[in-house]
Amino acid sequence: AGIRAALDLDSHGYEVLLAERRPALGGFLAKPGVGTLYGSGTASEAKLAPLRQQLADSKVEVLLQTELAGVEGYVGNFTVELSSSGGKNSADQAPRREEIGAMILAVGAKLYDPGDQYDYASKHNVLTNLELARRLDDPADKQFGSKGAPPASAVFIQCVGSRCEGDGCNPGCSRYCCPTTVKQATELAERGSRVTVFYQDMRTVSPGAEELYRRARGAGVLFVRISDDETPEVVGTKTRAKGVVARDLMLQRRVEAPAELVVLAVGMVPDTEQIGKLKEILKVPVGPDGFFMERHPELGPVETVVDGVFVCGSAVGAKAIAESLSEATAAAGKAGQLLARDVLQLEPTVADVDPWLCRGCGTCVEICEFNAPQLTMGQLGVPVAEINKASCKGCGTCVAWCPSGAITARHFTEDQIDAMMETMLQWEQS
Ligand code: SF4
Ligand code: SF4
Repeated sequence: AGIRAALDLDSHGYEVLLAERRPALGGFLAKPGVGTLYGSGTASEAKLAPLRQQLADSKVEVLLQTELAGVEGYVGNFTVELSSSGGKNSADQAPRREEIGAMILAVGAKLYDPGDQYDYASKHNVLTNLELARRLDDPADKQFGSKGAPPASAVFIQCVGSRCEGDGCNPGCSRYCCPTTVKQATELAERGSRVTVFYQDMRTVSPGAEELYRRARGAGVLFVRISDDETPEVVGTKTRAKGVVARDLMLQRRVEAPAELVVLAVGMVPDTEQIGKLKEILKVPVGPDGFFMERHPELGPVETVVDGVFVCGSAVGAKAIAESLSEATAAAGKAGQLLARDVLQLEPTVADVDPWLCRGCGTCVEICEFNAPQLTMGQLGVPVAEINKASCKGCGTCVAWCPSGAITARHFTEDQIDAMMETMLQWEQS
């Protein structure tokens, strides 16, 4: 998503810096063993290679092993500090400062760790879907590689961790796992395995995935809808799975499928470390699911409440690669729209400080979520607060907290609120 957004902005003539904290670009697609993508069947490398080539031919400046360390300023006038996060002497290098107009965050997501659910930690033939992808993609793998004989039987368990609430759970649909299971199940079935998929809801949402589902059925993959009040149980020895028992919703009884291999379809989780760091620096809100929050899913997608900061890809929520790329293009479009203007019109509902009432206590500086107030030296030679109108959202929090009553929210003054309340009460009485 980051490469796509950078290329789109570059093609419109903007100067672009692409900062990647890892030693190489490509995110999840560049991980070894992702193999082919479902739907199109394109190899992940074949998807990445043209993007890398376009990047090499563009004017985008790529900074590897680089992270955002700090930010000052506001929409159109940010100064960012970029620090080196790898290589020798990186700790000694001074952060690079750059003046930029807008930012797009594309930090991606991680995969859910199933812990010891379904005996994942103790039975060596219980794998996650990514581990199976890696093994299927490895020609040297004796069992799954192109020359190997796949297991006689395999069971896929869907929605691992995605159907519960509370600690250790990852509630919500990750959208990529069902189509991935269909792709992997088809490959195993076409190579001779007896494959069963235990699912609660099968969501083949992406283009081409429905056709792949039909192909899986044709290849003999058995899809068994299971009850949501009974978790499937992996049976076998201490270290090896031999089967999976689950309650079949149609038959209303427990069934056992043989399993020389058990595959856990795990969802995506936010990269809490990266998202936490960026939230701290940029004040971009994070939702209860731990992903970045858009300004509004329908009315302000890929925007954040911090003007000039956009988000895209799986940093906003679990999604497939094609969706991430579309979002990246949308984010680049919105950033480009902003950068194309010389002057921005601000919202009129912002807060003002009366310097004669301010006692310079700094409460508003601490309380503001958007870094809008700052203490400056006033006319009398004592610190007073000043609010940056470009950063202020007019939320009114500082108005309520200011111990001196020095701050007024424009268009929501005390007189205006009093008048509104009086009118409302009169109307209720009449
Ligand atoms: Fe001044 Fe009020 Fe801010 Fe304190 S909270 S610095 S008194 S404006
Ligand atoms: Fe910050 Fe809200 Fe006060 Fe504006 S009104 S300075 S956004 S706390």
